[in-house]
Amino acid sequence: MYLDKMNYLEVERYLKSGDTAILVTGSTENHGKHMPLGTDTFIPQKIMELVENRCSDLAVVMPALPYGSTEDLKGFAGTLSTGPYFLTELLNHLFDQMFDYGFRHFIVVNGHGGNSKPIECTAHHLYDKGALLARVDWWLIAGQINPAWKGGHGGGEETAGVMAVDESLIKKDYIYEKENLKNDISPMLPTTGWNTVDFEGGQIVIPRPINKITDNGWFAYGMPDAPSRADADWGKEMLEGMADYIAKFIPVFSDVELPPNG
Ligand SMILES: [Zn+2]
Repeated sequence: MYLDKMNYLEVERYLKSGDTAILVTGSTENHGKHMPLGTDTFIPQKIMELVENRCSDLAVVMPALPYGSTEDLKGFAGTLSTGPYFLTELLNHLFDQMFDYGFRHFIVVNGHGGNSKPIECTAHHLYDKGALLARVDWWLIAGQINPAWKGGHGGGEETAGVMAVDESLIKKDYIYEKENLKNDISPMLPTTGWNTVDFEGGQIVIPRPINKITDNGWFAYGMPDAPSRADADWGKEMLEGMADYIAKFIPVFSDVELPPNG
């Protein structure tokens, strides 16, 4: 059930038999030249659409959040970050109101790694009030339930996911095997990946704006999921697989006993 399509009487009616709400958290951020800025929102939104086709009566699906915390990627035109603190506040504010209406089990279907810590902070906030929050990082779980789907930011996994949403959103001419990393911070400390430099075989984190260290920003550098491997069949199978997984998880999580204050 989509919250924005219900009226308040239907919400009250749902709360007589259930207390589970689901929120998709995305991001508006660069994913390389071949991908749309809305990648991290479009894919989990599509997964939730497929979940709704399977079991629309189990939970109330809140309107998706298309912004997230993506400080690293600011500087690529169009990337918009909430920052981590504001995102935590926003999530607390939204879930507090859902809590007041009677919701107690919250599932966040997350599309972006930068949102993870703010979501965890909100989970602790809700736990202290007697509610539970589960974070489902779709792109990590997809790789865990089927290693063939494993991938990272802007790589084959996400490219395939967007192809399953709308293939015309992918600019295939911009897909190439490997992006170039640049601007080593010193000759002794070559850039090796997202925020990392190599020092004698160890990977040290020195955060810098990503647009200073890559010519593109898709950053599946060194991962097995080059975007050139992606196709729509991979994407469709993966999003259906994730929808099956989440559809099974919802009733199991909704039955979990609440913490003492609930
Ligand atoms: Zn992404």
